[in-house]
Amino acid sequence: MKMSGQRNLESEGIKMHRLATELFPLHRSMTGQGVRATFEILAKHVPLTVEEIPSGTPVFDWHVPQEWRIRDAFIADEQGRRVVDYSESNLHVANGSIPIAANMSWNELRPHIHHLPDQPDLLPYRTTFFRDSWGFSVKRAQLETLRNGGPWNVEIDSEYFDGHMSLGEINVPGSTDETVLIHCHTCHPSLANDNLSGIVIATQLAQSLLNIDRRLTYRFVFAPATIGPIAWLAQRTRDELERIRHGLVLTLLGDSAPFTYKRTSSGTALIDRLVPKVLGDLDVPHQILDFEPGGYDERQYGSPGIDLPVGRFTRSVHGEFPEYHTSADDLTFIQPKFLAESLHACRSILNSLEGVCFPINQFPFGEPQLGRRGIFRAFGERDDRGQLQEAMMWVLHLANGRNDSIEIANRADLPLHCVTDAIDLLRSHHVITTSDTANRNAFDQIVRGR
Ligand code: ZN
Repeated sequence: MKMSGQRNLESEGIKMHRLATELFPLHRSMTGQGVRATFEILAKHVPLTVEEIPSGTPVFDWHVPQEWRIRDAFIADEQGRRVVDYSESNLHVANGSIPIAANMSWNELRPHIHHLPDQPDLLPYRTTFFRDSWGFSVKRAQLETLRNGGPWNVEIDSEYFDGHMSLGEINVPGSTDETVLIHCHTCHPSLANDNLSGIVIATQLAQSLLNIDRRLTYRFVFAPATIGPIAWLAQRTRDELERIRHGLVLTLLGDSAPFTYKRTSSGTALIDRLVPKVLGDLDVPHQILDFEPGGYDERQYGSPGIDLPVGRFTRSVHGEFPEYHTSADDLTFIQPKFLAESLHACRSILNSLEGVCFPINQFPFGEPQLGRRGIFRAFGERDDRGQLQEAMMWVLHLANGRNDSIEIANRADLPLHCVTDAIDLLRSHHVITTSDTANRNAFDQIVRGR
């Protein structure tokens, strides 16, 4: 990478972290003002549109839930001194808690208290979505105080009411309607890696895509986990969904762990071949996981009636790092440097996806005479001219309308961008044509027409 690119990336990392810092305190939930405030901030950077779906709307096997609002919550002693105070951290209240105002003993309170015996100074993130219950998360010192005292004034000033669930979307049209779906969840409150890292990277990606010529169309969906994509999918036509040819769920991209790509449901989609190739070319540590029907919203997009090729791109894996769903998943856990690396990896994946095509050799009888066409002169002073020449030979050899550029790069054991450059060069000299889809007939006609 060029130095200027490196500097840009650094400043993008800082910019994304700053955006995460602005979003961090908002109390995002499945519905409500925290999500709307998040979208209002994102809309200052990108043309984000918000769809408000009324509570009760049937979406596949679900109904859009009532809207949730919270104003305050605390556990206080009889003098009104707060032992647990929502204003100190929104993680103190289980997300989606129903209202409660009661005076209770420790024994009555105890079933509603969550803490982490192995990480006593952290708050666990808990939810009560789709359950009529309430809860508080506490640190050990607070637990001790509660256990040794009482009765306690317990109050959660929250309410459920008929309102809306908010979904955000950014559409970035390309020259074709072949569409890439990028999804991230927006329902976690003050958690940085788990939701904010995906949100800020998706926003930065959308912003940079808007400034370049694109073949592909991109749809960025920002939605609460599970019910969000279910509602989004339920409102799309079959035609609209069929245009989605590739997809990625983005989250957990701000920590220092190696990259993780989780394959789509079929495991054989183009994106399943592309991501490992690009990560290999970038020479960054990574692991590839098979699909399993758990995790994030790749499971909605990959569900059997929807069956979209959506993989998942993260660094750490949910549930497998100690900060996961705790107050330690904060702004110090995600760092500008790691966000920048993740952005670069995502951008490399999308850039590569833009260039994937099926070349068709127009002169497949023996080797075409390249020198006569001035192709070698076109190499100029490139450092990688040896590789580029090798890539050209492979492209010509495999350009039968059946192999795409990823297949060719894998066979040649060359970086994908090198094969893409060779394809561009050969195409500009009319030695090959290219097709966005497999095109066996076009090649067979050339052979038959000899
Ligand atoms: Zn989570």
